[in-house]
Amino acid sequence: MLKKLFVVLVLSLSLAGQTPRTKNVILITADGVRWQDLFTGMDPMLKDEKDAGMKDAADRRARYWRDTPEARREQLMPFFWKDLVKRAAIYGNVTKNSPMTVTNTLRVSYPGYSEILTGHSNDAVIDGNVNFQNPSRTVLEIAREKLALDRSKVALFGSWDSFKWIGESKPGTITINAGYEAWEGGNARMRDLSRAQMMALPPWDDARHDYFTFEMAMEYLRTAKPRVLFITLDETDDWAHDKRYDRVLDSIHYFDQCLRELFGAIDSMPEYKGSTSVIVTTDHGRGDKLDTWSGHGKKIPDAANVWMAMAGPDTRAAGEMHDVPEIHQRDVAPTILSLLGIDPSGMKEILGRPVKP
Ligand SMILES: [Zn+2]
Repeated sequence: MLKKLFVVLVLSLSLAGQTPRTKNVILITADGVRWQDLFTGMDPMLKDEKDAGMKDAADRRARYWRDTPEARREQLMPFFWKDLVKRAAIYGNVTKNSPMTVTNTLRVSYPGYSEILTGHSNDAVIDGNVNFQNPSRTVLEIAREKLALDRSKVALFGSWDSFKWIGESKPGTITINAGYEAWEGGNARMRDLSRAQMMALPPWDDARHDYFTFEMAMEYLRTAKPRVLFITLDETDDWAHDKRYDRVLDSIHYFDQCLRELFGAIDSMPEYKGSTSVIVTTDHGRGDKLDTWSGHGKKIPDAANVWMAMAGPDTRAAGEMHDVPEIHQRDVAPTILSLLGIDPSGMKEILGRPVKP
């Protein structure tokens, strides 16, 4: 018994003092993806719903509807639930007692992304989706400073133009390309993407198609080899606001394809293979009822529920978590820092705690 205790003690001591093997961190988000859709696939409440764009969507039901939640989520997100689950720890399934919630009370995008990037909520100042410079330093800026990185080594590619303000507190600290924004320079592929984003227009004014954001980010990953990269996609939220659950499903399915490509790229590049941690999450949830599923915000309590998957050399591949203490959105920032070997404990703006599955 004593011997066993000793072994456990030595083991946990050595783990605590371990320097992380992570050299690079990639954060990737899909806006406002509900935990219900992620963990249980196509929602039975919405599957035939006229007002959710599903009345004539027999093709979507054929593609995504199955009899059990497990089979449905595998149809919707095959990479996430057949491959990633084996190499990740996944938080946020409310029905399995693994909650993850936002601490901001706004439950909209800017407060959510800021909580992810700064490790705290700031409801008095960031009280909605208003475009102003983030008043707090983001982990992207902190990582650049602490690791003494060139500006090109910390990058953010976002579909939503507000990331120009959310991503950094001092303009120009990191590389940001967000909304309809041309990319200056780069190779022929990058120039093509930059041109095409202005011509293949989505129905929304303040966000370009996710395809361009993702492809530009991947091209940047392959050529500039950033140490910290944030890819943030938006269409899942836009289609939900437009009450088009059929397109929400398609966008989540596309997001899953992006994850497959991203992990494929990581595994194929010596600079990233075995030394890259990936965090996949969302900025807010949405309602859980017929009249609230498309929205989110202060008045929709279920929008506080979010989720996260993390994978990499310093993360135990625990799969879908169950019966664990609640974690918070503000924990993402200190998790990113500690994965990079930066101790967040003395930083007084960071109120979250690193997540260690
Ligand atoms: Zn959002």
